[in-house]
Amino acid sequence: MAVLDNIRVVLVEPIFGGNIGSVCRVINNNDITDLAIVKPRPTTDWDDARKLACNAKDQLDARKEFNTLAEAIADCTVVAATSARTGFYRDTAYTPREFSPIALESAKDHKIALVFGREDKGLHNEELALCTHIIQIPSSKRYTSLNLSHAVMLCCHELFTASETFQPSEEKADEAGSELRERMFATWREMMIKTEFTHEQKLEHMMMGLRRIFSRGKLTVPDVKILMGLAKQSIWVSNQWKKAEKHD
Ligand code: SAH
Repeated sequence: MAVLDNIRVVLVEPIFGGNIGSVCRVINNNDITDLAIVKPRPTTDWDDARKLACNAKDQLDARKEFNTLAEAIADCTVVAATSARTGFYRDTAYTPREFSPIALESAKDHKIALVFGREDKGLHNEELALCTHIIQIPSSKRYTSLNLSHAVMLCCHELFTASETFQPSEEKADEAGSELRERMFATWREMMIKTEFTHEQKLEHMMMGLRRIFSRGKLTVPDVKILMGLAKQSIWVSNQWKKAEKHD
């Protein structure tokens, strides 16, 4: 089982259906599937939830509902409360980035939970007491409290990134070897003279500059072919001009 499958997002008494829908979308973006809602409110606007879930309506339908936080986290080892406030042991809070390796280590073998509070009042102290860790998302002193779904995104995204589920695409083209690179530099050298971009005296200096510029990143075979093609075309154009000038 993938570690992310062992992570449960728990929303305690969320007020806005829109936020619940946004959370579904957020967890879907981060390969998390386990969503629990504690004490869903009878006033919840489920139409809004469906609208904001967009393509994550399956997550919305698959949510589990519980009457108490204790029931929602009963099978979890690590349970992290999220809070924007300080005080009541919140001063020992982790950032989502610090917490992620701890969570993923436990999630290899156990269910773990991230608990999010009500939009107006956050989590009660009795709920915080049931949690093993506290997460505080660093934010402006002027306005520490984030929108519920944004807070879920920041926590889930740190977990997703730390899980290394996402592998950025790698350059597939071969890196150019010295022989090809030197042919390209020779073409550029000729181009700079033919186009009268530089005088003979300044040519070597200019060539060193070019070598520095082109060695700042990896040059692939297709990159070098583009650069070479550009120089060859410039040589051809300047030859055409010179021919035209002679006929004038
Ligand atoms: N006024 C409430 C804010 C609730 S925001 C309060 O003072 O607690 C809704 C939920 O989003 C919070 O209960 C918490 O779970 C999460 N959240 C918002 N901002 C956060 C932050 N800076 N750090 C951690 N969690 C945060």
